[in-house]
Amino acid sequence: MTTKKVSHVVKRPGLRLKDPDYEIPVAEDLVTTPGIRQNQKDVDFYSRSYPLESQNIEYTADRSWVWTVYSPEEEESHLEHERLQAPVVNAAATSADVAPTAAPTGKDVTEEIKTKARELGFGEVGMTRYDRRYTFKYKKRWTRFEHAICLAYEQDYERTQSIPSSFAEYTHFGTYRTMSQLGLMMADYIRSLGYHAQVHSPNDNSAPYIPMFVAAGLGQLGANGQLLSPHFGSRARLMVITTDAPMTYDQSVDYGIHKFCEVCQVCVNRCPGRALMRDKVWWRGVEKHKLVYERCRPVMARYSGCGVCMKVCPIQKYGMKPVMEHYVETGEVLGKGSHELEGFSIEGKGYFGPGQLPHFNHDFFEIPHGRSEDLLFEQFKEKLSNHEIPDGPAGDEALRSFKKRVEEILAEPETDSMFAVMPEEA
Ligand code: SF4
Ligand code: SF4
Repeated sequence: MTTKKVSHVVKRPGLRLKDPDYEIPVAEDLVTTPGIRQNQKDVDFYSRSYPLESQNIEYTADRSWVWTVYSPEEEESHLEHERLQAPVVNAAATSADVAPTAAPTGKDVTEEIKTKARELGFGEVGMTRYDRRYTFKYKKRWTRFEHAICLAYEQDYERTQSIPSSFAEYTHFGTYRTMSQLGLMMADYIRSLGYHAQVHSPNDNSAPYIPMFVAAGLGQLGANGQLLSPHFGSRARLMVITTDAPMTYDQSVDYGIHKFCEVCQVCVNRCPGRALMRDKVWWRGVEKHKLVYERCRPVMARYSGCGVCMKVCPIQKYGMKPVMEHYVETGEVLGKGSHELEGFSIEGKGYFGPGQLPHFNHDFFEIPHGRSEDLLFEQFKEKLSNHEIPDGPAGDEALRSFKKRVEEILAEPETDSMFAVMPEEA
């Protein structure tokens, strides 16, 4: 048994309000940098020249395709979630315009806001600047206020361990609905302090939120592409509230995750779609493990949102403190190689223990890519080059039907939420 030298101990508040502090030892050989390695000039360049866009805008072709592979039960549960969530998404969408209900005092309200968030049940809360470099193109004019309150809500432990399953997927939806309601309550509270609050609903994201959570010291990015938060790892569901309330920003933290993921690699080895990468790459000015979307999406769509990469992460399963303590004491990854951590079942394919993965043939990964209108154009072009569109009335009819379909697609609202009625962007 090797006991490793500890570089530093990260002290975080306990999971619940009155719990004692949670102390995470970081072994010397895991130290890299607080937060994440970035090249600020590159982040600036990419955000200016190639601004991010929401997956639900850029990838409408596969967003439509997924409905063709859902079972009737899954289709209904997705629709039900969208219906139930729509009023909350609508309320969040207009929340920036709601006036404060008291006069502002001008004093720093960081502690009041953090205490309220934790009373409402958010397990992690931190403050940082709302980093507009990550804002999706279609949300640029919607997003208001410079300060970001990062709020993480814990998804139920037991249900998460049943991943991949419709049971776990309903839990994921239910967690979003619960935290969205709590987010609206948080916004009311901030207004009662005299300030504005804009709720960035988890069903209608304005940006990828993980960079801001990392900046606020609430975890680091794991090889599974998820925030590894101290208490519940990647079981954290994330949302943001922006505000003009005076506050003090938190600092990013080195929890040792970047090096730990290099040692661990459990999610990389267990991903049924082989969508996760062993090594980090530099991407848009950030050094990170990059997920291959085209390998993940077909699995997620067909197997209840998949999520094996969340389920098998030891930090999700055991919490960061026991995992890092175990590493300091033994130099090993807690649970690695065990059925308890690594085992999962895939409906129709059976159980897969450590070292075993399901097999999917090439066709399984053939799904439509890009925007629906671009795909339609590509299909039309192909028919033209194959001389499948004749001259005369039949050709005219094909052109008319192409035009009608493009118009229908372009008329669809630009939103992440199917039933939400989005306000006109300012
Ligand atoms: S959701 Fe499933 S397929 Fe996608 S990266 Fe995670 S484990 Fe792999
Ligand atoms: S499973 Fe291991 S490698 Fe993957 S994110 Fe979790 S700690 Fe990192």
